[in-house]
Amino acid sequence: MKKIMVTGALGQIGSELIEKLRSEYGVDNVLATDIRSIGAMTDGPFEVLDVTDGRKMHTLAKDFGADTLMHMAALLSAKAEKEPLLAWNLNMGGLTNGLEVSHELGMQFFTPSSIGAFGPSTPKKATPQETLQRPTTMYGVSKVAGELLCDYYFHKFGLDTRGVRFPGLISYVAKPGGGTTDYAVDIYYKAIQKGKYTSYIAEDTYMDMMYMPDALQAIVDVMEADPAKLIHRNAFNVTAMSFEPSQIAAAIQKHIPSFKIDYDIDPVRQAIADSWPDSIDPSAAISEWGFKACYDLAAMTEDMLVKLGMKPQASY
Ligand code: NAD
Repeated sequence: MKKIMVTGALGQIGSELIEKLRSEYGVDNVLATDIRSIGAMTDGPFEVLDVTDGRKMHTLAKDFGADTLMHMAALLSAKAEKEPLLAWNLNMGGLTNGLEVSHELGMQFFTPSSIGAFGPSTPKKATPQETLQRPTTMYGVSKVAGELLCDYYFHKFGLDTRGVRFPGLISYVAKPGGGTTDYAVDIYYKAIQKGKYTSYIAEDTYMDMMYMPDALQAIVDVMEADPAKLIHRNAFNVTAMSFEPSQIAAAIQKHIPSFKIDYDIDPVRQAIADSWPDSIDPSAAISEWGFKACYDLAAMTEDMLVKLGMKPQASY
């Protein structure tokens, strides 16, 4: 990875990924792109790119001399259920363009899958790397198809595709883009702003989560991994913790004892959460490329509350 182009760079992951990549590989070696330009980073190369425009993607990557494409643009789970056709067209159209352009220009390729690629018939606990994947959401359908397509481009064309299945990601820089696990970010904002939070996910619903610094390190590590050691290429299970809303509330109460949580369940997002695993098994990522998460719930909570407390209220 020397010259990296990133799609969907203004999203929850992209906005922090760009900063990390620029600090590791040099500001001028990372091209950020997104369909919108509002809030675009001004401290390095940025271009407007709609990922459904494969020709423009090719031109930008070629002109930049990119050797790596990190494809982040997608519609997330809760939004995808509201607009399933848009989700299919964006998630599959953007991915296909990314793979084709990478193949044409000989680039290394990364894209994240998700725990949304699992479904109600998947084993719920310690979900294995290889298991039943019959998701019931459009997001999940596009993620499973995407995992298979990335494997196909590797086997058929020798394209160096790599990827992980991310759990819910928790971060304080950019707000999440409409996923089912967004409550676990929102709860920290509301704890600081209002001292209370109404959860749309039920008290006893477990889902996997990870703090953003661990997610960003996982992206760099899987891309830098020795290909000879990779048995899998794409969609490695990665996770740092699994908790239910009442546990994250208890972790916050250690810092803000008066913090209160109540529940007003959103049936759509609850149904999505119920179809996902309680906890996934990351042992393939650990053994094949040394995946490691540094933050558990307590360490993440402390850091989130400190970092959000330092953020100007106007940017909430
Ligand atoms: P996000 O919704 O925060 O950001 C997506 C970005 O894509 C936005 O900046 C948006 O403007 C951009 N975009 C939308 N349509 C576009 C288009 N047509 N062309 C170009 N850009 C477009 O998403 P994120 O959380 O940063 O997720 C990035 C990837 O990681 C996605 O593939 C997502 O499925 C995956 N993922 C995220 C999480 C999570 O918790 N955030 C968990 C698992 C997997």
